[in-house]
Amino acid sequence: MTTTIQSAELLSVGTELLLGEIVDTNSAYLAADLATRGVDIYWSQRVGDNLNRVKTAIQQALNRSDLLVMCGGLGPTDDDLSREAIAATLNETPTIDPQLELWLRERFASFSRRMPERNLKQAWLIPSARALANPLGTAPGWFVNCTVAGKPRVIVALPGPPRELKRMWLHEVLPLLSLPESALFTRTFKTMNMGESTVADLLGELTLQANPSVATYAKRDGVHVRVAAKATTSTEAAELAAPVVTQVQGLLESGIWGVDKDELPDLVREGLLARGLSVGSFETLSAGALAEVLSHGKQSTSVYKGGVVAWDMQAQAAFGVSETRLQLSHEASAFAMADAAAALLKTDIGLAAFGVTDRGELEEHVSEVYIAVSGALGRELKVLTLPPLQADWIRERITYASLYLLWSVLNA
Ligand code: AMP
Ligand code: MG
Repeated sequence: MTTTIQSAELLSVGTELLLGEIVDTNSAYLAADLATRGVDIYWSQRVGDNLNRVKTAIQQALNRSDLLVMCGGLGPTDDDLSREAIAATLNETPTIDPQLELWLRERFASFSRRMPERNLKQAWLIPSARALANPLGTAPGWFVNCTVAGKPRVIVALPGPPRELKRMWLHEVLPLLSLPESALFTRTFKTMNMGESTVADLLGELTLQANPSVATYAKRDGVHVRVAAKATTSTEAAELAAPVVTQVQGLLESGIWGVDKDELPDLVREGLLARGLSVGSFETLSAGALAEVLSHGKQSTSVYKGGVVAWDMQAQAAFGVSETRLQLSHEASAFAMADAAAALLKTDIGLAAFGVTDRGELEEHVSEVYIAVSGALGRELKVLTLPPLQADWIRERITYASLYLLWSVLNA
């Protein structure tokens, strides 16, 4: 029986998920994929390797969702219970499918291994299930059609390893599902220099509506604002979104640096390439994080010549920053570093990120960061005030604020 899947729910099985030993990336993958296909997800659960609890979760799902996608628990051991739980919920008895058994034995033979008898349960089927091929592993999936309280339902059981799961989902499951005739349009605006609450204030009531929806996300490269609209066709979805897209763009205007798949390091590199300009960096507390990001990507070596990492005053002097900088203001010190980078590395532009710590330590006590751009496009400064935070976080903030300052200068 084929019926259009309007709603789905997810069930990840494995005690390691509950203990926080692994992160449930499979659910994130499946949820994102189903959303773009117009399927609504109202529940997503994680359950340990326990027959009764997995059964309860399956029963709940069948009562309220058209499609249940399970992952994990298809291994050969006694704690892999997804097949048992589905069979018990549907009151069906598993039997060994001769074709699956043959496939499994041949698969083991191809690695010159004898199949352990415990793996035989991976050849099980129940009358309502058909097998889903898994060329990347030994656990076939299940595609189950059933009826609950007169309503057609589908259960899909996928293997836990993400590589196997994704392949099976895309190549074996999707062709069997009847999905809604709907399309999702999204436009993401990426902003910098505004906090999430400032952005929320600017957007006002817009964030309260459902279709199109407007949502904010705090990311390392600033606050992202996503407009999403759902309709029957992609053209209709885009049309539905259009007025809200324009409105959001108008409200955020000055803060927007990119949309959708734009990445700040790429935009900076492309901007430099387009103008035929090169850059060298000088950094202190970001400890090479800025150099790392600037050196990525196509043709990066034609625009990024290198960088200095030095927080010690004598080390800085060795790279051309006068030891008299102690008498300078922090602003002037940052410019001295940017100039030193450009001179030393023979670049058109120097970019410096100079962090001031209040206790002379590299971590946790950064209070202010002075970011300077100097050279072919003029001089620009940004002062960043950071709360006491962990080193990784501080480095990321400094890196993206520096990229943004350079981006602003390139786009002024
Ligand atoms: P299982 O099929 O339950 O034996 O899981 C096999 C392996 O797949 C686990 O050891 C994890 O490495 C991975 N895995 C299982 N479930 C998930 C999940 N929900 N998200 C990401 N990886 C998973
Ligand atoms: Mg498991």
